[in-house]
Amino acid sequence: AKVSGKTRHEVFATKMQEQALAYLELEADLRTAIANQEFELYYQPIVSLNSGTIVGFESLVRWHSPQRGFVSPASFIPIAEETGLIIPLGKWILQQACLQMQIWQAQFSHCQSLTISVNLSGRQFSQPNLVEQIEEILQITNLNAQSLKLEITESMVMDDVEEAIILLNRLKALGVRLSMDDFGTGFSSFSYLHRFPMDTLKVDRSFVSNMSKSVKNQAIVTTIITLAHQLEMDVVAEGIETETEMKSLQAKNCEYGQGYFFSKPVDREQATLLITKTLQ
Ligand code: C2E
Ligand code: CA
Ligand code: CA
Ligand code: CA
Repeated sequence: AKVSGKTRHEVFATKMQEQALAYLELEADLRTAIANQEFELYYQPIVSLNSGTIVGFESLVRWHSPQRGFVSPASFIPIAEETGLIIPLGKWILQQACLQMQIWQAQFSHCQSLTISVNLSGRQFSQPNLVEQIEEILQITNLNAQSLKLEITESMVMDDVEEAIILLNRLKALGVRLSMDDFGTGFSSFSYLHRFPMDTLKVDRSFVSNMSKSVKNQAIVTTIITLAHQLEMDVVAEGIETETEMKSLQAKNCEYGQGYFFSKPVDREQATLLITKTLQ
């Protein structure tokens, strides 16, 4: 059947062309975005479920494009990753996040033990000079290594487990901390988790939001938390949106939480306000 005079093949080919063009345009915009400083870091508090105090922030990148408006990291990070632009962008993110935490620690005496969590991408993780780069950034920004927490996903470490373990141990030797992000969503690394020198396990939002749906989903979250504790990791639950979820996680001995129930990711000024209001 013909659609507006074109064969199905032609329609398909045109669509592919349009997609390829859109991709190239996005890549071009992304390339200039770094030079034009269109990126900004937002910060989402990570909260102790026992005391309610902020223990750290996760940095989350934002792109304010003059042409496109706000672009979600979920759509541009994968392209930055494919094109290699994540290397300069990732370095900028790390440096910016470390600098901000150093500024907060210098500004507020009660911020010394706060951590800044920074997401690493797969491509960054396989950069040969990653350890040296992080060491250099810590030096330049004058941030204590133990204040930096790197968020690493399962897929990044499951590619080559042995190599990943060596790299993770080198990062640990710098003094930085490590979080396993989005745990349980990828190809499951349950059987490998004990071999990775993680300080923290982050329970993915999908598990947290499903908790209220059934007793079985509750059991999954309980199991993940118990596993983490037995491996001497602490646990951050992501995507907590309700008091019920928060209470339920607290009852399961989950130490930390993050989510809209506490705060959305906010800009530097608002994060500073949160620090001055809630931490004394
Ligand atoms: P992620 O690392 O799992 O980050 C958590 C995402 O969940 C963030 O989305 C955050 O805004 C969102 N979130 C937090 N609490 C809630 C909640 O209660 N409910 C809901 N519905 N969402 C919540 P965001 O900022 O859009 O980032 C999406 C993903 O993009 C991140 O997932 C991460 O994979 C990637 N990303 C963001 N910033 C960076 C970065 O600086 N570097 C790299 N490599 N990736 C980043
Ligand atoms: Ca993360
Ligand atoms: Ca996550
Ligand atoms: Ca996620």
